[in-house]
Amino acid sequence: MTDNYGPAHWAAAPLGNYGAGRPGGIDMVIIHDTEGSYISAIDRFLDPSQGVSAHYVFRSSDGDVTQCVHEADTGYHCGNLRYNQRSIGIEHEGFAAHPSQWYNDTMLQASAQLVADICRRYGIPIDRQHIIGHAEVPSEDGTHFGGNDFHTDPGAGWPWDRYMQMVNGTPAVVPLVTSPDYAVYSNPTINLAIFSNVLRNVGSPAYDEVEDCYNTCTDNGVNPAVALAFFALESNYGTAAGAVDLKNWGNLTDPSSGQLATYDLWSLGLRDWCNHFRTTAYNNAQTISTIVPIYQPGSAGGTVQGDNSYIQQLHDLIKGWADQLAAQPNVFTPH
Ligand SMILES: [Zn+2]
Repeated sequence: MTDNYGPAHWAAAPLGNYGAGRPGGIDMVIIHDTEGSYISAIDRFLDPSQGVSAHYVFRSSDGDVTQCVHEADTGYHCGNLRYNQRSIGIEHEGFAAHPSQWYNDTMLQASAQLVADICRRYGIPIDRQHIIGHAEVPSEDGTHFGGNDFHTDPGAGWPWDRYMQMVNGTPAVVPLVTSPDYAVYSNPTINLAIFSNVLRNVGSPAYDEVEDCYNTCTDNGVNPAVALAFFALESNYGTAAGAVDLKNWGNLTDPSSGQLATYDLWSLGLRDWCNHFRTTAYNNAQTISTIVPIYQPGSAGGTVQGDNSYIQQLHDLIKGWADQLAAQPNVFTPH
Protein backbone atom coordinates (compact mmCIF):
# COMPACT_ATOMS: atom_id res chain seq x y z
CA MET A 1 0.00 0.00 0.00
CA THR A 2 0.94 3.59 -0.26
CA ASP A 3 -0.59 6.52 1.47
CA ASN A 4 0.11 9.42 -0.78
CA TYR A 5 0.01 8.52 -4.48
CA GLY A 6 -2.23 5.84 -5.91
CA PRO A 7 -0.02 4.47 -8.69
CA ALA A 8 3.03 3.95 -6.43
CA HIS A 9 4.21 0.66 -4.96
CA TRP A 10 5.21 0.92 -1.35
CA ALA A 11 8.67 -0.10 -0.10
CA ALA A 12 9.31 1.45 3.29
CA ALA A 13 12.71 2.96 3.99
CA PRO A 14 13.79 2.50 7.63
CA LEU A 15 13.75 5.43 10.05
CA GLY A 16 17.23 6.91 9.99
CA ASN A 17 17.24 6.88 6.22
CA TYR A 18 14.54 9.52 6.65
CA GLY A 19 13.44 11.77 9.49
CA ALA A 20 10.00 11.51 11.09
CA GLY A 21 7.65 14.38 10.32
CA ARG A 22 8.23 17.85 8.94
CA PRO A 23 8.97 20.98 10.93
CA GLY A 24 7.20 23.18 8.36
CA GLY A 25 5.15 22.98 5.20
CA ILE A 26 6.03 21.34 1.91
CA ASP A 27 6.67 23.89 -0.83
CA MET A 28 9.18 22.27 -3.19
CA VAL A 29 9.78 19.24 -5.37
CA ILE A 30 13.40 18.20 -5.97
CA ILE A 31 14.31 16.17 -9.05
CA HIS A 32 17.14 13.63 -9.08
CA ASP A 33 18.52 10.85 -11.22
CA THR A 34 19.79 7.62 -9.72
CA GLU A 35 23.10 7.08 -11.55
CA GLY A 36 22.17 3.42 -11.22
CA SER A 37 19.28 1.05 -11.78
CA TYR A 38 15.78 1.44 -10.41
CA ILE A 39 16.21 -1.59 -8.15
CA SER A 40 19.61 -0.50 -6.89
CA ALA A 41 18.19 2.90 -5.89
CA ILE A 42 15.29 1.32 -3.99
CA ASP A 43 17.63 -1.20 -2.34
CA ARG A 44 19.85 1.63 -1.19
CA PHE A 45 16.91 3.49 0.36
CA LEU A 46 15.85 0.33 2.22
CA ASP A 47 19.37 -0.34 3.52
CA PRO A 48 19.63 1.11 7.06
CA SER A 49 23.38 1.58 6.72
CA GLN A 50 22.93 4.17 3.94
CA GLY A 51 21.20 7.06 5.70
CA VAL A 52 19.57 8.25 2.49
CA SER A 53 16.16 8.11 0.86
CA ALA A 54 13.88 9.82 -1.60
CA HIS A 55 10.10 9.76 -1.41
CA TYR A 56 9.62 8.32 -4.89
CA VAL A 57 11.69 6.43 -7.49
CA PHE A 58 10.68 6.10 -11.16
CA ARG A 59 11.72 3.35 -13.58
CA SER A 60 12.82 4.50 -17.01
CA SER A 61 11.44 1.68 -19.15
CA ASP A 62 7.78 2.01 -18.19
CA GLY A 63 7.38 4.82 -15.65
CA ASP A 64 6.75 2.40 -12.79
CA VAL A 65 6.97 4.21 -9.45
CA THR A 66 7.86 3.11 -5.91
CA GLN A 67 7.33 5.19 -2.80
CA CYS A 68 9.87 4.69 0.02
CA VAL A 69 9.01 7.53 2.42
CA HIS A 70 5.67 9.05 3.43
CA GLU A 71 5.27 12.58 2.16
CA ALA A 72 4.60 13.61 5.77
CA ASP A 73 8.17 12.58 6.65
CA THR A 74 11.49 14.15 5.69
CA GLY A 75 13.48 12.27 3.03
CA TYR A 76 17.27 12.59 3.08
CA HIS A 77 17.98 13.18 -0.58
CA CYS A 78 19.47 16.60 -1.32
CA GLY A 79 22.31 17.21 1.14
CA ASN A 80 20.70 20.23 2.80
CA LEU A 81 18.50 19.56 5.81
CA ARG A 82 16.27 22.61 5.40
CA TYR A 83 15.62 21.73 1.75
CA ASN A 84 14.95 18.10 2.66
CA GLN A 85 12.43 19.27 5.26
CA ARG A 86 10.50 21.44 2.80
CA SER A 87 10.58 19.19 -0.26
CA ILE A 88 9.45 15.94 -1.79
CA GLY A 89 12.37 14.13 -3.43
CA ILE A 90 11.86 12.22 -6.67
CA GLU A 91 14.49 9.93 -8.18
CA HIS A 92 14.53 8.92 -11.84
CA GLU A 93 16.35 5.86 -13.10
CA GLY A 94 19.13 6.89 -15.41
CA PHE A 95 22.55 8.36 -15.97
CA ALA A 96 22.97 12.07 -16.52
CA ALA A 97 25.69 11.39 -19.07
CA HIS A 98 23.17 9.60 -21.34
CA PRO A 99 19.98 11.58 -20.95
CA SER A 100 18.31 10.55 -24.19
CA GLN A 101 18.68 6.87 -23.31
CA TRP A 102 16.99 7.28 -19.95
CA TYR A 103 14.86 10.44 -19.77
CA ASN A 104 12.16 9.21 -22.14
CA ASP A 105 8.62 10.53 -22.47
CA THR A 106 7.10 7.55 -20.67
CA MET A 107 9.03 8.18 -17.47
CA LEU A 108 8.83 11.96 -17.78
CA GLN A 109 5.07 11.87 -18.23
CA ALA A 110 4.61 9.51 -15.27
CA SER A 111 6.80 11.73 -13.12
CA ALA A 112 5.03 14.89 -14.29
CA GLN A 113 1.70 13.34 -13.32
CA LEU A 114 2.99 12.81 -9.77
CA VAL A 115 4.46 16.30 -9.55
CA ALA A 116 1.20 17.84 -10.76
CA ASP A 117 -0.63 15.83 -8.11
CA ILE A 118 1.80 16.96 -5.39
CA CYS A 119 1.54 20.60 -6.46
CA ARG A 120 -2.24 20.40 -6.42
CA ARG A 121 -2.37 18.72 -3.03
CA TYR A 122 0.01 21.15 -1.31
CA GLY A 123 -0.80 24.28 -3.30
CA ILE A 124 2.76 24.47 -4.67
CA PRO A 125 3.17 26.80 -7.67
CA ILE A 126 4.20 24.97 -10.84
CA ASP A 127 7.37 26.88 -11.67
CA ARG A 128 11.13 26.46 -11.62
CA GLN A 129 11.44 28.19 -8.26
CA HIS A 130 9.47 25.36 -6.63
CA ILE A 131 10.35 22.42 -8.87
CA ILE A 132 14.13 22.24 -8.99
CA GLY A 133 16.98 19.82 -9.65
CA HIS A 134 19.33 18.51 -7.00
CA ALA A 135 22.04 20.56 -8.73
CA GLU A 136 20.11 23.74 -7.85
CA VAL A 137 19.93 23.05 -4.10
CA PRO A 138 22.31 25.31 -2.15
CA SER A 139 24.72 23.79 0.33
CA GLU A 140 23.94 24.42 3.99
CA ASP A 141 26.80 26.92 4.27
CA GLY A 142 25.62 28.68 1.10
CA THR A 143 28.99 28.45 -0.64
CA HIS A 144 27.97 26.20 -3.53
CA PHE A 145 25.11 24.27 -5.13
CA GLY A 146 24.25 20.59 -5.42
CA GLY A 147 23.69 20.30 -1.68
CA ASN A 148 26.64 19.81 0.67
CA ASP A 149 28.05 17.08 -1.59
CA PHE A 150 28.23 19.00 -4.90
CA HIS A 151 25.68 16.82 -6.73
CA THR A 152 24.96 17.77 -10.32
CA ASP A 153 21.91 15.59 -11.04
CA PRO A 154 19.72 15.31 -12.98
CA GLY A 155 22.28 16.91 -15.30
CA ALA A 156 22.17 19.30 -18.23
CA GLY A 157 20.29 16.76 -20.31
CA TRP A 158 17.16 16.82 -18.16
CA PRO A 159 14.56 18.36 -20.52
CA TRP A 160 13.23 21.00 -18.13
CA ASP A 161 11.07 22.90 -20.62
CA ARG A 162 9.41 19.76 -21.85
CA TYR A 163 9.01 18.39 -18.34
CA MET A 164 7.44 21.59 -16.98
CA GLN A 165 5.03 21.66 -19.92
CA MET A 166 4.02 18.13 -18.99
CA VAL A 167 3.49 19.10 -15.34
CA ASN A 168 1.48 22.14 -16.38
CA GLY A 169 -0.49 20.26 -18.99
CA THR A 170 -1.45 17.40 -16.74
CA PRO A 171 -5.12 17.89 -16.10
CA ALA A 172 -6.46 17.52 -12.61
CA VAL A 173 -7.42 13.90 -12.03
CA VAL A 174 -10.87 15.20 -11.20
CA PRO A 175 -11.92 18.74 -12.04
CA LEU A 176 -13.06 20.91 -9.16
CA VAL A 177 -16.55 19.90 -8.16
CA THR A 178 -18.62 22.18 -5.99
CA SER A 179 -21.94 20.54 -6.70
CA PRO A 180 -23.13 18.98 -4.53
CA ASP A 181 -21.30 21.30 -2.17
CA TYR A 182 -21.64 19.27 1.02
CA ALA A 183 -22.89 21.16 4.06
CA VAL A 184 -21.33 20.67 7.48
CA TYR A 185 -24.68 20.78 9.25
CA SER A 186 -26.73 18.23 7.40
CA ASN A 187 -27.94 14.65 7.54
CA PRO A 188 -25.37 11.82 7.53
CA THR A 189 -24.22 10.60 4.11
CA ILE A 190 -22.23 7.80 5.78
CA ASN A 191 -23.23 5.20 8.36
CA LEU A 192 -21.38 4.04 11.46
CA ALA A 193 -20.11 0.90 9.70
CA ILE A 194 -18.29 2.79 6.95
CA PHE A 195 -17.11 5.45 9.40
CA SER A 196 -15.67 2.62 11.55
CA ASN A 197 -14.09 0.82 8.61
CA VAL A 198 -12.28 3.93 7.46
CA LEU A 199 -10.78 4.61 10.89
CA ARG A 200 -9.89 0.97 11.48
CA ASN A 201 -8.31 0.49 8.07
CA VAL A 202 -5.96 3.44 8.50
CA GLY A 203 -5.06 2.49 12.07
CA SER A 204 -6.52 5.70 13.43
CA PRO A 205 -6.06 6.22 17.19
CA ALA A 206 -9.62 7.62 17.23
CA TYR A 207 -10.95 4.16 16.37
CA ASP A 208 -11.02 3.43 20.12
CA GLU A 209 -13.78 6.06 20.39
CA VAL A 210 -15.42 5.42 17.08
CA GLU A 211 -19.00 5.21 18.27
CA ASP A 212 -18.65 8.31 20.47
CA CYS A 213 -17.14 10.17 17.53
CA TYR A 214 -19.93 9.24 15.14
CA ASN A 215 -22.56 10.16 17.72
CA THR A 216 -20.81 13.44 18.55
CA CYS A 217 -21.31 14.41 14.91
CA THR A 218 -24.97 13.47 14.73
CA ASP A 219 -25.71 14.92 18.19
CA ASN A 220 -24.36 18.24 16.94
CA GLY A 221 -26.18 18.10 13.61
CA VAL A 222 -22.97 17.47 11.64
CA ASN A 223 -22.70 15.08 8.69
CA PRO A 224 -20.10 12.57 10.00
CA ALA A 225 -18.67 12.20 6.48
CA VAL A 226 -17.74 15.88 6.39
CA ALA A 227 -16.06 15.62 9.79
CA LEU A 228 -14.23 12.46 8.72
CA ALA A 229 -12.97 14.07 5.50
CA PHE A 230 -11.51 17.03 7.41
CA PHE A 231 -9.94 14.56 9.87
CA ALA A 232 -8.35 12.79 6.89
CA LEU A 233 -6.78 15.91 5.46
CA GLU A 234 -5.82 17.64 8.71
CA SER A 235 -3.99 14.79 10.44
CA ASN A 236 -4.31 11.70 8.23
CA TYR A 237 -7.00 10.48 10.65
CA GLY A 238 -4.92 11.26 13.70
CA THR A 239 -1.94 9.23 12.47
CA ALA A 240 0.24 12.24 11.63
CA ALA A 241 3.23 12.85 13.87
CA GLY A 242 2.15 14.31 17.22
CA ALA A 243 -1.58 14.20 16.44
CA VAL A 244 -2.36 11.59 19.06
CA ASP A 245 -0.97 13.87 21.78
CA LEU A 246 -3.37 16.67 20.81
CA LYS A 247 -6.52 14.69 19.92
CA ASN A 248 -7.47 17.82 17.99
CA TRP A 249 -9.90 16.67 15.26
CA GLY A 250 -9.30 19.52 12.83
CA ASN A 251 -6.18 21.28 14.13
CA LEU A 252 -8.19 24.02 15.80
CA THR A 253 -6.34 26.78 17.60
CA ASP A 254 -6.88 27.41 21.28
CA PRO A 255 -7.88 31.10 21.28
CA SER A 256 -6.38 31.72 24.73
CA SER A 257 -2.89 30.45 23.84
CA GLY A 258 -2.84 30.84 20.07
CA GLN A 259 -1.46 27.29 19.94
CA LEU A 260 -3.13 24.12 18.73
CA ALA A 261 -5.69 23.05 21.30
CA THR A 262 -5.16 19.81 23.26
CA TYR A 263 -7.96 17.45 24.29
CA ASP A 264 -8.19 14.39 26.54
CA LEU A 265 -10.45 12.56 24.09
CA TRP A 266 -10.87 12.62 20.33
CA SER A 267 -14.61 12.98 20.82
CA LEU A 268 -14.05 16.17 22.84
CA GLY A 269 -11.86 17.66 20.13
CA LEU A 270 -14.50 16.63 17.63
CA ARG A 271 -17.26 18.29 19.66
CA ASP A 272 -15.41 21.61 19.43
CA TRP A 273 -14.83 21.05 15.74
CA CYS A 274 -18.53 20.36 15.19
CA ASN A 275 -19.45 23.74 16.64
CA HIS A 276 -16.51 25.63 15.16
CA PHE A 277 -18.43 26.71 12.07
CA ARG A 278 -21.19 28.24 14.14
CA THR A 279 -18.84 31.03 15.25
CA THR A 280 -19.29 34.49 13.79
CA ALA A 281 -16.06 34.18 11.84
CA TYR A 282 -17.93 31.91 9.45
CA ASN A 283 -20.83 34.31 9.01
CA ASN A 284 -23.18 31.44 8.19
CA ALA A 285 -20.81 29.99 5.60
CA GLN A 286 -21.57 26.31 6.11
CA THR A 287 -20.74 24.45 2.93
CA ILE A 288 -17.30 23.07 2.20
CA SER A 289 -16.40 25.51 -0.56
CA THR A 290 -17.35 28.51 1.57
CA ILE A 291 -15.78 27.42 4.86
CA VAL A 292 -12.38 26.25 3.59
CA PRO A 293 -11.06 29.72 2.70
CA ILE A 294 -12.04 30.89 6.21
CA TYR A 295 -10.76 27.71 7.86
CA GLN A 296 -7.37 28.22 6.16
CA PRO A 297 -6.04 24.67 6.28
CA GLY A 298 -2.28 24.57 6.72
CA SER A 299 -1.85 22.17 3.83
CA ALA A 300 -3.70 24.50 1.46
CA GLY A 301 -0.93 27.08 1.73
CA GLY A 302 -3.22 30.10 1.77
CA THR A 303 -3.69 30.18 -2.00
CA VAL A 304 -6.83 29.87 -4.10
CA GLN A 305 -5.23 26.90 -5.85
CA GLY A 306 -4.52 25.31 -2.48
CA ASP A 307 -8.04 25.92 -1.23
CA ASN A 308 -9.51 24.44 -4.39
CA SER A 309 -7.32 21.39 -4.05
CA TYR A 310 -8.39 20.96 -0.44
CA ILE A 311 -12.07 21.38 -1.32
CA GLN A 312 -11.72 18.86 -4.13
CA GLN A 313 -10.10 16.29 -1.85
CA LEU A 314 -12.83 16.71 0.76
CA HIS A 315 -15.46 16.32 -1.90
CA ASP A 316 -13.81 13.20 -3.34
CA LEU A 317 -13.63 11.53 0.07
CA ILE A 318 -17.24 12.31 0.98
CA LYS A 319 -18.51 11.30 -2.45
CA GLY A 320 -16.50 8.06 -2.28
CA TRP A 321 -18.06 7.08 1.04
CA ALA A 322 -21.54 8.01 -0.18
CA ASP A 323 -20.96 5.75 -3.18
CA GLN A 324 -19.83 2.94 -0.85
CA LEU A 325 -22.96 3.34 1.20
CA ALA A 326 -25.11 3.25 -1.93
CA ALA A 327 -23.33 0.07 -3.07
CA GLN A 328 -23.56 -1.73 0.28
CA PRO A 329 -26.39 -0.14 2.24
CA ASN A 330 -26.50 -3.06 4.66
CA VAL A 331 -22.80 -3.39 5.42
CA PHE A 332 -22.25 -3.85 9.11
CA THR A 333 -18.92 -4.31 10.79
CA PRO A 334 -18.83 -5.00 14.49
CA HIS A 335 -15.83 -3.46 16.18
ZN1 LIG B 1 20.36 13.74 -6.33
